[in-house]
Amino acid sequence: MDVNNNYYCPACSALLNAENNVVLAVQKNSGEGGVILLDTKLGDYTKVKHSSLSIEKGEIVNLFCPVCHKNLLCLPDYNLARLMMKDEAGENLTVLFSVKFGKEETYVIKDSAVHKTYGKHKKEIDFESMSLCK
Ligand SMILES: [Zn+2]
Repeated sequence: MDVNNNYYCPACSALLNAENNVVLAVQKNSGEGGVILLDTKLGDYTKVKHSSLSIEKGEIVNLFCPVCHKNLLCLPDYNLARLMMKDEAGENLTVLFSVKFGKEETYVIKDSAVHKTYGKHKKEIDFESMSLCK
């Protein structure tokens, strides 16, 4: 069964899903930019696709909302970007994920506490002691 999570921009609330992907704008530190497609299934890092950019493993990229162009970086110290998500039960959640290419870590936050974590690079992070970006 396909679980379809809907992802939204935290700034303008635009729905960022396109079929089974989340569409984001990406820019490398060199200034080169394009689009990146993430899988809507949490914890699946195998289907990340991007336009003809060459992104090296370990490279830190800037991710933007393709609608309002807000930089989605939320916790710079941890290289985590933020999206809002509505799961199949209609719950509103916050998703934090790494902007370091190839780094597999995703955190789902519910009511400012960690709800679920995914990825082989996930760490113990005390999100409750942090104030997430607006
Ligand atoms: Zn936006």
